[in-house]
Amino acid sequence: MPGASRRRLARRAGFQASALSVILSGAGWFALRSAGIDVRLPVFVWITAGATLTAGLLTRFYVEFAVSRRITRVVRALDAYARERSLQRLPDLGGDEIGEIGRAINALLANLTSLEVRMIEQGQELRTTRDELTLERDLGEKTAELEQRLRERALLFDIVRASASERELDSVLAEITARLGEALKLRECMLFLVDAKTERLTLRAAYGFEKPGELLERIVLFDEQPLGRVAKTGEAVVVDELETLPESSLWEPIEQRGSMAILPVVHHGATTGVLAATRSEKTAFSEVETGLLAAISDQLGLAIRHTQLFDELRRGSQHDDLTGLGNRRLLRIRLEDELHRAQRFGEAVSVLAIDVDYFKALNDRHGHPTGDAALRKLAGLMTRNLRRIDTIARIGGEEFVVLLPRTDVGVAAKVGEKLRSIVETTEFPGGEGQPGGALTVSVGVASLEPDETGADLLARADNALYEAKDLGRNCVVASQPTAGSARSLTRSRI
Ligand code: GH3
Ligand code: MG
Ligand code: MG
Repeated sequence: MPGASRRRLARRAGFQASALSVILSGAGWFALRSAGIDVRLPVFVWITAGATLTAGLLTRFYVEFAVSRRITRVVRALDAYARERSLQRLPDLGGDEIGEIGRAINALLANLTSLEVRMIEQGQELRTTRDELTLERDLGEKTAELEQRLRERALLFDIVRASASERELDSVLAEITARLGEALKLRECMLFLVDAKTERLTLRAAYGFEKPGELLERIVLFDEQPLGRVAKTGEAVVVDELETLPESSLWEPIEQRGSMAILPVVHHGATTGVLAATRSEKTAFSEVETGLLAAISDQLGLAIRHTQLFDELRRGSQHDDLTGLGNRRLLRIRLEDELHRAQRFGEAVSVLAIDVDYFKALNDRHGHPTGDAALRKLAGLMTRNLRRIDTIARIGGEEFVVLLPRTDVGVAAKVGEKLRSIVETTEFPGGEGQPGGALTVSVGVASLEPDETGADLLARADNALYEAKDLGRNCVVASQPTAGSARSLTRSRI
C-alpha cells in the first residue's frame, strides 16, 4: 500500500475514532445528568476534547503502524509474486487476523514453490523426451535414407548384372523394368526402344499392366506427346499431373491419373530408348528421384547396347550369312530343346532333310552368284511357307534341315511334299536350265522315336534323303523307324 493512501486511511480512522469519542462523551454526559450527577460543562468539554484527541491520535497511530504497515507487507508480497513470481515469504505478522492472512499466504507461497519445482522437473523431463524423440526421428530418417541409397545401389548393380548376362535383349529388358517397378514402387514402368530413322518408339518391356504381353511391340510416334518428345529431344520430362494433359496426348493404356517421369536412354549421344515410370500420386517424382532415374537410364543405355551387341554376336554365331537362316549350331540347340520337350511331354517332333537337286550344274552353268541368289530365294520361300515355331537351318552348301516341333511323321511328310511342290513350281535364278526345266529339291523325313538321340534322328532323315535321291530326286521319302528302312511318298518325276 503506498504511503499517501495509508496515511489517508489512518487519518480517516482517527477522525472516525474522534467522532465516536465525541458521541460517547455526549452520551456519557446525558447519562450522568439523568443520573443526577452534575458535571460542570467546562470540565466536561475539556475531558471530551482530551478523550477525542487521544482516541483520534491513538486510532490513527494504531491503524497506520499496527494494521496498515502489515497489510502493506501482505500486499507487497502478493504484488511481487504477481509481477516477478517472487516466492519470498512474509515475516510473522502477529497473532491477529492479519497474522493469519500472512501465514496463509506463506503456506500458499510454499505450495507454489513446490509446484514450481515440479514444473521445472517436468519441463526437464519433457525436454529430454522431446530430444530423444527428435533423435529417434532423425535416426529413422537417416536409416530410411541409407536403406533407399542401398536399394538404389542394388538396383544399379542388378541392371549391370542383367545386362552382362548372356540372355536375349527382351528378357533382359523385362527383368530390368520389373526390378525398377518393384524397387521404386512404381505403378507402371515401360521401356521403349527408339528407331530414329522411322521416328518411332516400340514398347519392348512393360511392368504394372494387367496383360503386358498384349502391349508389347506397340508403336509411339515422335509426334505423340509426351513420350515422343523425349525420344525426339533427348530431354527428360516430368508430368506432375497426368490429368492436366489433353485426353489424346497420352499413350492409351496408361491411366491418365497421378504423375509420370519420362527419361531418355542415351548411348554415345544418341537416344536409343525411353524409360517411362508412373505413380498414382500427383508430383510423385522429386528431383532426387528423377536424378536416380537419370542414372538408371544411363546404365540402361549401356545395358541395351551391350545386349544388342551380344544378340548380334549370337545371331552371327547361330545364323548363316548368305540366307539368314539358322546354322548347324542353332539347329543343335533347338534340336536339344525340342527333344527334351518331346520326351518330357510325350509330343511328336520331326525333321526334314532337304537337298537341292543338281545344284552343281546350276553353278557351273550360271556361276556362283546366280547359285547364291537361288539359295537365298529358296530360304525365303521356306521361311514364308513354314510356321514360326519351326527352325530352318542351312547345314551345308545346298543342304537344309527343318525342325518341326509337335509334328508327327505323317504331317511332316505332307509339309515336305508342300515344300517340294512349291519349289518345283517357283521360278529361280538359273532354274530353267535345270533337268526338267526347274529347280527342284529332294526331301527326307524322320520323326523322333522313343530313346532316340538327335544325331540318330538326323541320320535317319539323311538316309531318307539319300533314298529320295536314289529314287530319282524331286521327291519326298519318309523314314520307317521300326523296319529301319525308308518309304517313298512321292516318286521322282524325271
Ligand atoms: P545332287 O542332286 O546329287 O545333290 O547334286 P548336286 O549337284 O546338288 O550335289 P553336289 O554335292 O555334287 O554339289 C553341290 C554343289 O553345291 C557344289 C557347289 O558348287 C554348290 N555349292 C555349295 N555351297 C554353295 C554356295 O554357298 N553357293 C553356291 N552358289 N553354290 C554352292
Ligand atoms: Mg544337291
Ligand atoms: Mg548336297
